[in-house]
Amino acid sequence: MVTIIELTDRQVKIVEIVKERGPITGEQIGEILNLTRATLRPDLAILTMSGILEARPRVGYYYNSQSGNTLVARAIGKIRVKDVKSLPVVVREATTVYDSIVTLFTEDVGTLIIVDSEGNLNGVVSRKDLLKIAIGGSDTHKIPVSMVMTRMPNIVTVSPEDTIFQAAKRLIVHEIDTLPVVRTFALPNGLERQEVVGRITKQQLRNCLLSSVKGIIRWKIT
Ligand code: ADP
Repeated sequence: MVTIIELTDRQVKIVEIVKERGPITGEQIGEILNLTRATLRPDLAILTMSGILEARPRVGYYYNSQSGNTLVARAIGKIRVKDVKSLPVVVREATTVYDSIVTLFTEDVGTLIIVDSEGNLNGVVSRKDLLKIAIGGSDTHKIPVSMVMTRMPNIVTVSPEDTIFQAAKRLIVHEIDTLPVVRTFALPNGLERQEVVGRITKQQLRNCLLSSVKGIIRWKIT
């Protein structure tokens, strides 16, 4: 669960007062809450810095109705792939199509990542790739997954440092469900190797978005 902003009860009250009566000065808010302006200063600073309230000199505080969207965008811009990625479900190139299908079921995933003996990315295989070969009547016990996978260099990946916004864009643009999370190392011969360190799925990004929005909805943005 990623909670972006947790306002205190007092901060929520302040937002509600400003929404209802703004523009309103700090003193007036203090009078309503029976608190001094000095006591409220840190709360007002947090609320203005986060963009929920805006302050105009000699006018007072007013509510920024755009702040919900801004905060969601800001929140998503800050969450990194490494914060939400899960363990990759991997098989080797020689694994049969049959065993790959069994792994899909036992691991409860829609896509398998194919790696070499050092954990480097070789390819991915989706449930439809496997389904296609299975309904085609081939002997799934004999065909290795390498025959049906999408292989490097055509694999779309993300790095742990990328934001989930970048990951979401790649999933949408390439119309796929899963991205392998890889760390890239340069080899002495000028080539690169990509070590698989996780996976990111559409489902995870949906959950992540929902948790971010929940954190923000806590203070009832309308
Ligand atoms: P499905 O095929 O079950 O609908 P996807 O939409 O994820 O699942 O996959 C569509 C096609 O894209 C498949 O052929 C799959 O091998 C390929 N694919 C899946 N993930 C990736 C990826 N990260 N990079 C490149 N190709 C991918």
